[in-house]
Amino acid sequence: MKNYKLALVGATGLVGQTALKVLEEFKLPIAEYVFFASSKSAGKKISFNGKEYTIRELKEDSFDEGFDFAVFSAGGDTSKHFSPIAASKGCIVVDNSSAFRMDPEVPLVVPEVNPEEISKNKGIIANPNCSTIQAVVPLKVLDDNYKIKRIVYSTYQAVSGAGQKGVLDLENGINKSGEELVKFPYPIFNNCLPHIDVFLDNGYTKEEIKMINETRKILKKPNLKVTATTVRVPVINCHSEAINVEFEKDFDIDELKNKLKSSKGIILEDDPQNNLYPLATKANNHDEVYVGRIRRDESVPFGINFWCVADNIRKGAATNAIQIVQELINNDK
Ligand code: NAP
Repeated sequence: MKNYKLALVGATGLVGQTALKVLEEFKLPIAEYVFFASSKSAGKKISFNGKEYTIRELKEDSFDEGFDFAVFSAGGDTSKHFSPIAASKGCIVVDNSSAFRMDPEVPLVVPEVNPEEISKNKGIIANPNCSTIQAVVPLKVLDDNYKIKRIVYSTYQAVSGAGQKGVLDLENGINKSGEELVKFPYPIFNNCLPHIDVFLDNGYTKEEIKMINETRKILKKPNLKVTATTVRVPVINCHSEAINVEFEKDFDIDELKNKLKSSKGIILEDDPQNNLYPLATKANNHDEVYVGRIRRDESVPFGINFWCVADNIRKGAATNAIQIVQELINNDK
């Protein structure tokens, strides 16, 4: 068996720190790890798998020593500049930023949904947006069985999705510390902000357009009708989403629930009479997508509404990326 070498870029960030935990749990056959961040963190010590490692500054020549894989979680600009350099040195990059997601040459992968795309990579594989990843896991099952005609997304997204600064704004608000906001334009404590990423000319936010375009690419339905409203809410971790779906075909609601329940990566929690439905507090620190509150949309011939919750830092970023590395290793055997 080959022993691989992996670089983790952005190892000091929210996603990077969780990627360290996920890597410890997954126990992949990786013999050597190198951890990178910005010059600000160079020299910092981190503990991984019971050993101490020193964070290195990411530089143009960082990949000269040769890596099999690199997981990038350091923002779009860093990915745009350094991922092609890493790929040109023979390293396969799994990128958490939005830099390459819509590039037709770059596979956009959720392993439960479209693992067949992984082998088509030319050196870079994109991890989808966190809110898209958790949605497409159940949507793929529904599309395979009932053919989706239209999707309406309404999201309730945790502050951890905005990185460490987002978490700080909420914590400072809770503690009433009077600190200046560092991430959001308005206080997130006691508020909901219908504003994630920048506003575009058509009035949508970039986050909403990401969800629309990425869903179409992953489900391989370029003309699918999809719309979205994405909202930041005062929750530390785990995104919740209300998803309305219209199908081409009729369905039996119990059968539909069973299909979701028996699918990989999904936990069905759907017993409203006993107050059982997905919750951010329960999905926290788990890799599965939680689905519940499934009911017919009685305003259309064949449609449902459901509630979908997942840990945006794990399944929405770190775990999905490490699952892709795991698949790359399995395909290499
Ligand atoms: P974060 O907490 O702000 O961390 C950013 C990381 O990037 C830090 O490790 C930082 O290192 C590093 N970095 C910044 N500039 C760098 C540079 N020039 N060279 C090397 N490293 C650099 O952000 P995050 O939430 O972890 O997000 C990281 C990426 O994942 C972003 O692209 C984000 O869009 C994406 N993502 C996040 C989520 C989420 O739910 N949070 C989900 C999906 C995707 P220093 O500590 O040295 O500054």
